[in-house]
Amino acid sequence: MTPLLRVRGVERRFGSGDGATLALQATDLDVAENDFVTILGPSGCGKSTLLRIVAGLDSQTAGEVQLDGRRIDGPGADRGMVFQSYTLFPWLTVRDNVCFGLRERGWPRARQLEVAHDFIHKVGLGGFENHYPKQLSGGMQQRTALARALANDPRMLLMDEPFGALDHQTRELMQELLLGIWEAQRKTVLFVTHDIDEAVFMGSRVVVMSARPGRIKLDRPVELPHPRHYSVKTSPVFSGLKAELTEAVRTEVLAAAAQQRPAAAV
Ligand code: ADP
Repeated sequence: MTPLLRVRGVERRFGSGDGATLALQATDLDVAENDFVTILGPSGCGKSTLLRIVAGLDSQTAGEVQLDGRRIDGPGADRGMVFQSYTLFPWLTVRDNVCFGLRERGWPRARQLEVAHDFIHKVGLGGFENHYPKQLSGGMQQRTALARALANDPRMLLMDEPFGALDHQTRELMQELLLGIWEAQRKTVLFVTHDIDEAVFMGSRVVVMSARPGRIKLDRPVELPHPRHYSVKTSPVFSGLKAELTEAVRTEVLAAAAQQRPAAAV
């Protein structure tokens, strides 16, 4: 079957000449429809760069990205983004933040409100429709960002450490919320995280990237059943995969640290 997302030989170089940084080296990645792929790797290995290229917010310096057989060369409503930092429009209520993309697409107001109502309730924000972002906790802001992304019914959700700024308990609740939505809707997801537990718990597949210049170093299916309850975290399958990924990520974190050491100290 043709994958929904096809990344072929994608490279990203920043700057030119001696000062150039190769952030991403010839990377290939296929993501099948309905898959939930999590990406792990040391800080600075190019995870966000790859996601931004897929989102069309950045351009590769070589290679090609295709979504559903069409070359990506800019942002589009077929991809919904959720970032770590809160990116809601502060002057809009929860309801209007969620309606935003639908309004841009010229939907009638009644239909916008219907869809917004549905997703606001799916993320557990019923009753907060008229609140502004500054009146919400970090977790509630990310729920709103998730509802806004889902309301546009994108082919793919692109998530860059979406729960990275949240406290541990809120983060676990958000993981369960997103997983529940994914289990019900099977939206295709590409999800960047540096949290190995999160990558295994959420993913149907986990990919590990190498230290800069990033490339895919390890690619593993997560053979844990759905619906997934947080108690799977104590299962042998979870622990075995976590151990393998921890070792792979650690090797790359050490490689990244060695790159940062001044030449004289190496
Ligand atoms: P990650 O998300 O894995 O932490 P990034 O994709 O943010 O990594 O960055 C990968 C590498 O590319 C880093 O070395 C970073 O400094 C570099 N980089 C990212 N964006 C830019 C930019 N706009 N200009 C120059 N270098 C950049």
